[in-house]
Amino acid sequence: MSALRTGPAGPNATKSPQPHSVYLHVPFCAVRCAYCDFNTYAGLEALMPEYVSALCREVELVGASAPEKLLVHTVFLGGGTPSLLPVSAVKKILDAVNTAFELLPDCELTLEANPGTVDFEQLAGLRAAGINRISFGVQSANAHELQLLDRLHTFAQAQTAVHNARRAGFARLSLDVMFGLPYQTLPEWQHTLHAVLALNPDHLSVYALILEHGTPMQAAVTKGQLPLPDSDLAADMYEWASATLTQNGWVQYEISNWARPPTAPHSPTQECRHNLQYWRNLPYLGFGAGAHGFAGGARYSNALAPQAFIKRMRAARPSAFPASAACVQRTEVSAAVEMSDTMLMGMRLTHEGVSARNFESRFGTSLEAQFGAKLRALQARGLVDWTGERARITPGGRLLANMVFTEFI
Ligand code: SF4
Repeated sequence: MSALRTGPAGPNATKSPQPHSVYLHVPFCAVRCAYCDFNTYAGLEALMPEYVSALCREVELVGASAPEKLLVHTVFLGGGTPSLLPVSAVKKILDAVNTAFELLPDCELTLEANPGTVDFEQLAGLRAAGINRISFGVQSANAHELQLLDRLHTFAQAQTAVHNARRAGFARLSLDVMFGLPYQTLPEWQHTLHAVLALNPDHLSVYALILEHGTPMQAAVTKGQLPLPDSDLAADMYEWASATLTQNGWVQYEISNWARPPTAPHSPTQECRHNLQYWRNLPYLGFGAGAHGFAGGARYSNALAPQAFIKRMRAARPSAFPASAACVQRTEVSAAVEMSDTMLMGMRLTHEGVSARNFESRFGTSLEAQFGAKLRALQARGLVDWTGERARITPGGRLLANMVFTEFI
C-alpha cells in the first residue's frame, strides 16, 4: 500500500501539485435494474450525441477556469452504462479531457461496462482509445439471481466479455458482485464468488444489496412479493467472502474492495486509484448529469436530468472553478468539515485507515487533538484500532461500519 499523499488544508487544495481525479457520468442504460437508484435512464439513447457534446463543453470550460493546468492521475467513465457509448464518443470525451488537463503518464483510465453491451471490436477500440482499466458489473453467476436483479446479461456473457477484454489488451480488469439478495443461500453466494474468481480478475468489488428507497425491488419487498434479505446471513456471506479471498492471496484495502497483490516488487498495484482518491478525501472533478465534485475547497453537484444538463451547457459561459453552468449546488468546505470527511472516508480503508502523520501534515493539527477521544471510545467498543500513529476500522467494525462513520459526521 502506498503512503497517503498529503495535501494542504481546505481552500488551498488546488494550489498544490496534488493530482486531481476526473469522473465523467454517462446516464444511459438499456434497462433499469430492479435494485438501482443511480442517476441513469433507459430509453434516452437518442440524446447521446448532444449529451457527449455537452460533457466535452463542460470539461473544456472547467479546465479553462482552473487557476492552472491541473494534473490528472485518474479518469473514470461511470454510469449508467458507459459501454453503451460508441467508441468514437469515448474518444471525443478523452480528447476533451486530454486538452483541458495534463494527464500524468501513468494515468489510470477506467470505463464501467455491462457484460451484455460489449463485443471484442468495441473493447479493442476502447483499449486503443486509451482506456486501460475495465470494470464489469457481473453481480451473480446464478441465472435466477440475474433475472431477479433485472440484469440484461447472462453469466456466460460475462465470461465472454472478460475473455474478450483480455484479448483486447486490458491488463487491469475489475468485476463487481453482489450478495445478500432475496432468496439467496450461502451455497449460491459461494458458487458466484468461486465462478468469478475463476475468471481471474485483478480487482473485485463485493457489495451487499441495499434496498434503496423508490426502487422496484424495495417496493416488491414492502408489498411482501419478495422476502427481506436476512441481515445475519448477509453478514455470514461477507465474512465467508473475506476469509476466502484472503486465503486466495487477495488483499482487502476497502470495506467492499479487494485487489490482487502486485506480481513483482515494482509492478503496479491493482487497487482502484480513482476510488482511493475519494476515500483519501482528495480533489476530484465531476462532469455530467448529477455528477458531483470536490476541488478548490468546494463541493458541488450538477443538475440531475440529462436534458437539463444539456440545456445548461448549451448556453454555458465560464463559471467560478470548479463548477460549471450545470452546477445546482455548491458548498464551500471548512477545515473542520474537511477533517471530518477525511475521517469518514478514511475509515473505509481497512488497511491504510487514516495516518496521524499525514493528517497533521495536511491540517496542521494532530489527529489526537481533533478525534482522539472519539477514536478511543470506538476502540473501547472494538470497532476501531487506534495506535496513536494510525486509526483504522477493525474486522468486527467492518460489519458495523455505518455506526463508525456516523461518529465523524
Ligand atoms: S446497469 Fe448499472 S447503472 Fe444501469 S440500471 Fe443496472 S445497476 Fe443501474
